Amino acid sequence: MFNIIILGAPGCGKGTQSAHIIEKYGLSHISTGDMLREEVELHTAIGDVVKKFIDRGYLVPDDIIMREIFVAALKKNKSKGLLFDGFPRTLFQAEYLDEILQHKKSKIALVLQLEVDEEELFNRILNRSLDSHRSDDNSETIRKRIEVYKKQTVPLIDYYRKQKKLHIVSGMAPVTDVFQNIESIIDKIKNRK
Ligand code: ADP
Repeated sequence: MFNIIILGAPGCGKGTQSAHIIEKYGLSHISTGDMLREEVELHTAIGDVVKKFIDRGYLVPDDIIMREIFVAALKKNKSKGLLFDGFPRTLFQAEYLDEILQHKKSKIALVLQLEVDEEELFNRILNRSLDSHRSDDNSETIRKRIEVYKKQTVPLIDYYRKQKKLHIVSGMAPVTDVFQNIESIIDKIKNRK
């Protein structure tokens, strides 16, 4: 299995690039954000709890993510590999993921860190809000999500750098250029195996 993590602030283009990556490399897309929004939409017990966190721009607590969301995600595990988008988001989640993959005699092959300037992130999400209809795509919540990202998710950059898995990609270029850079990184690592 060839497993990839795509890491980056809200609005950096993770979702867009993920769609290209899964198509080209035949991976299963694991987006905890999409899974959580589905729970909210279906008004499940979990959905009602997580909505409060999402709407305020906070992370959903680790125990809910690992116990409910992640277990369901792993059931998709029938493909050539997994693409994790929006997960892990805390050191706890990252360590847990490593443990689970180890049990499965698998691992993360590489981590892509998409970098985009803060003002650009803000503008992209505001633009997206015009048709995303996401309850967390409003200016107040975006600021909070970016702040939460810096505090809780940025430490993962060092975590994966130490594992020599981190690859930084600028997310400021047009979508196709960003994807070309991603392809060349993935291909280099796949060919090394
Ligand atoms: P974005 O990256 O644009 O913020 P996502 O769809 O990845 O969008 O996430 C939306 C929200 O869902 C987050 O702000 C957070 O509240 C929640 N969420 C998604 N994934 C996780 C996760 N792995 N851990 C905790 N909360 C999460």
